[in-house]
This record gives sequence, structure tokens and C-alpha cells, in this order.
Amino acid sequence: MSDLLERLRERGWRMTAQRRVVAEVLDGDHVHLTADEVHARAVARLPEISRATVYNTLGEMVTLGEVIEVSTDRRAKRYDPNAHHPHHHLVCARCGAIKDVHPTGDPLASLPDAERFGFSISDVEVTYRGTCPNCAAA
Ligand SMILES: [Zn+2]
Ligand SMILES: [Zn+2]
Repeated sequence: MSDLLERLRERGWRMTAQRRVVAEVLDGDHVHLTADEVHARAVARLPEISRATVYNTLGEMVTLGEVIEVSTDRRAKRYDPNAHHPHHHLVCARCGAIKDVHPTGDPLASLPDAERFGFSISDVEVTYRGTCPNCAAA
């Protein structure tokens, strides 16, 4: 399990009912939800929570560095609580399932000097695409 709630508490983040619900929705492994998905799940637990509150809360978690924004396709940004362990993503092209993965070797180091064009490179994002076992079996 990711320990998002615990991390937020340790940061001294004031835990209101709304914030707690958003954090609970995002807690776990391989969680990559769009803001609308977070809102839909939050409403199931706390019917009065507004879309604006969910968006603001997600923005605050990102600012704190406890949630990262992930774009694995041209669709909406996704929110990922796995913020402290660098990872890449494996995406099913059919159903959109997303797994956190850790390739062997450092993708940053694998770019040849000749293709760095003098850049000092600070970050790399790799998305592996394919078909998940569920979709392959269907
Ligand atoms: Zn799939
Ligand atoms: Zn992830």
C-alpha cells in the first residue's frame, strides 16, 4: 500500500473530511486516476464533496509533492500517489489499465551523448504500451 494519508499527516496537512476522502480514494498501489474519477469515487463516500474541492485538493497534494501528475496518453492527466519512488508506466492500449514498473538499467543513462544536444537532462518518462492479460484473453 502507498501510505498517502500517513505522509500527508506527517507533513502537518490539516485533515478535513473532504481532504481525507480524496486521500483515501488515491491511496494504494498502481493508482492512476483522472480528477473526474477521483471525484466520482469521493462522492460515493462523501456525497456533498464538490468537483472544485476535489480539483483544489489534488492541486495541493501535487504542490506538496505527495502526488504526481502523469500523462500516459492524450486523455486527461492522472494523479498518482507513488510520488517518492521513481517509476515508469505500462499501459494497456485497449482498457487503459496502468501499472507502475521499474525497468532494469537507468533510462536517463541510456541516451547517447550525441543525442543530448548539450542538454542537461533532469528527468525521463517512459511509457510501455501493450495489451494486458485480461484484454488478451477476451
Ligand atoms: Zn487491458
Ligand atoms: Zn505510477
